[in-house]
Amino acid sequence: MSEYVKVAEIFGQHVFNDTVMQERLPKKIYRELKNTIEEGKELDLATADVIAHEMKEWAIEQGATHYTHWFQPLTGVTAEKHDSFISAPLESGKVLMSFSGKELIKGEPDASSFPSGGLRATFEARGYTAWDCTSPAFVRHDAGGATLCIPTAFCSYTGEALDQKTPLLRSMEAINTQALRLLRLFGNTTSKRVTPSVGPEQEYFLIDKEKYKKRKDLIFTGRTLFGAMPPKGQEMDDHYFGKIRSRVASYMKEVNQELWKLGVSAKTQHNEAAPAQHELAPIYAKVNVAVDHNQIIMQTLKSVANRHGMHCLLHEKPFAGVNGSGKHNNWSLTTDDGINLLEPGKTPHENVQFLLILTCILKAVDDYAELLRESAADVGNDHRLGANEAPPAIISVFLGDQLEDVIDQLVNTGMATHSIKSGTLETGVKTLPNLNKDTSDRNRTSPFAFTGNKFEFRMVGSSDSVAGPNVVLNTIVADAFREACDEMEKAEDLNLCIHDLIKKFATEHCRIIFNGNGYSQEWVEEAARRGLPNITNMVDAIPYLKDEKSIALFERFGVFTRAELESRVEIKYETYSKVINIEARSMIDIATKQIIPAVVKYTTVLANSINAVRQASDADVSVQVDLLNQTSSLLRESKTALEELKKLTEEAAAMEAGQEQAQFYNRKVMKAMEALRRPVDELEMLVDKDMWPMPSYGDLLFEV
Ligand code: ADP
Ligand code: MG
Repeated sequence: MSEYVKVAEIFGQHVFNDTVMQERLPKKIYRELKNTIEEGKELDLATADVIAHEMKEWAIEQGATHYTHWFQPLTGVTAEKHDSFISAPLESGKVLMSFSGKELIKGEPDASSFPSGGLRATFEARGYTAWDCTSPAFVRHDAGGATLCIPTAFCSYTGEALDQKTPLLRSMEAINTQALRLLRLFGNTTSKRVTPSVGPEQEYFLIDKEKYKKRKDLIFTGRTLFGAMPPKGQEMDDHYFGKIRSRVASYMKEVNQELWKLGVSAKTQHNEAAPAQHELAPIYAKVNVAVDHNQIIMQTLKSVANRHGMHCLLHEKPFAGVNGSGKHNNWSLTTDDGINLLEPGKTPHENVQFLLILTCILKAVDDYAELLRESAADVGNDHRLGANEAPPAIISVFLGDQLEDVIDQLVNTGMATHSIKSGTLETGVKTLPNLNKDTSDRNRTSPFAFTGNKFEFRMVGSSDSVAGPNVVLNTIVADAFREACDEMEKAEDLNLCIHDLIKKFATEHCRIIFNGNGYSQEWVEEAARRGLPNITNMVDAIPYLKDEKSIALFERFGVFTRAELESRVEIKYETYSKVINIEARSMIDIATKQIIPAVVKYTTVLANSINAVRQASDADVSVQVDLLNQTSSLLRESKTALEELKKLTEEAAAMEAGQEQAQFYNRKVMKAMEALRRPVDELEMLVDKDMWPMPSYGDLLFEV
């Protein structure tokens, strides 16, 4: 029996959204809340009490028994502590359901167990969660029943940000202020707010749960630490956009329905480049909502997979030698009255406002390339960026032919007089319509590409929160706007000033534009000639977060204080070291307890069979002998590498936490891990499959 779902009916079913608020809140309260949401006005406790009450009533109707302040500490995932709605039992022995304005606005989880990077010693564990009313509350249903989730920001007792949300909201303020300044100078008197719009495309892998359970590396680290390449990889390109198999299709159907109920506008789904790899993209939303929704998407992908007998891998590189997963961050700026500031129009060379905004973005990305690169760094992403896979670790901007030509004109002559026309695409088939062509082709190798009316930042890793990259994007662009506005506000001839600024920014920062193949070795060399940074790993990227230039930038807009940046740097080094330490120890564990014993068994079988054949006949046993020799020598190599890895891991773990330790893990321990993996992967190709202690890449990738 198939049930049909009316999407429009279920969409937003579990969200305390605008419609619900209008329906349930007294008019005056509703207006006050809207003022808070739209203009950042402070909410008084009496109003909050009314909202809390209605929110609770609504949530209870949805089956909720608990509420939680849902927040995003610096662990990369969300955190929550559940409280039920019950009040202290009455004389009668009954309980009431209660939820106060205070409980809605402020929570106090024990903050001591979340990373704070020295901002808060464990003895002063106070941390507060504060309701972020700009992102709607929702009721989540799972095995534990239903819970009212209230999106919150998480701060220390002294107001320092301990989460992803707080700096994001601050950076939204920064770009709003500067973008409005700029719009006013162009004569716009009507727009009241400018907000970054973000659409993050989420890539993921799906594998069979029973096979997953047999891979300790996946269980402990989210990626395979061993594994020889299967005979077939992705070379046939037959998976990308291929027909979605029914098991996966029914999974996607349930993911979509769950997301729609939570007001997440899941839109696009398809198979990705690698076997077992897929993508889900929602319709873009205001960046703070997009960040929350992306967390909900990641959680939903995982939980639904579990119900379908599968496991969802969000790691950036679950399988070596196979395409990794990213999270393309599509970013644009939208006014409250619906203008996209990144819309070039048909004749961009005449669109002076667009040209200034565009050249400001070029300037921002060029001036702060290291910071932007750092914002996309996470431990897993090191296997994509700057490793043998794209996008490259070098930040560059792809503009497409039309805009690149406009910039060329500006740089060469100081004036842009024409825009290349896009034209129509003639299919040559009468029954097919001719299509209007986009003005630029796609360049999938560029880390930062203009795609018509938005930029697509492609470096972000699949498991990472998109908050960090957007904090940086918002702030660096705000800074370029600020610089332009400072000039414009004091100019005698505004038009001339704008003209000069566009030319200046285009000329000074055109080195960041690159329209060619970003995967090629020539580009690495060319980028070096242009003086563009090429930061190949997270440990080398981290220091840029707190160099004096970055501190000045973030402090200028109140996005981060020096202390907050320093704490984040500490947390990042520690996270790096911890992750590699877990990976190294997992390898040691698997090699010691599973792989070496299996290989020993196999050599014993070989040896016994050689003896048996020799006793029984004069048959040629040279193949068996060869195999035994080969296997034994790789076994020796593995054991030596294992001992070395053990030694280095112990040495690393004994070091004091911080930059040096992270570097040691990065330079020494990672090398030792590779040295162990090499002979083990070769052994996998020799040893009897029935004796190999875990499913192969082929089993994992092609038998979902
Ligand atoms: P692609 O062809 O790049 O894979 P997708 O359709 O998978 O494109 O994803 C594009 C993403 O960009 C979607 O999330 C979409 O909503 C988002 N997007 C579209 N327009 C804008 C915009 N103006 N600003 C921000 N994001 C946008
Ligand atoms: Mg896509």
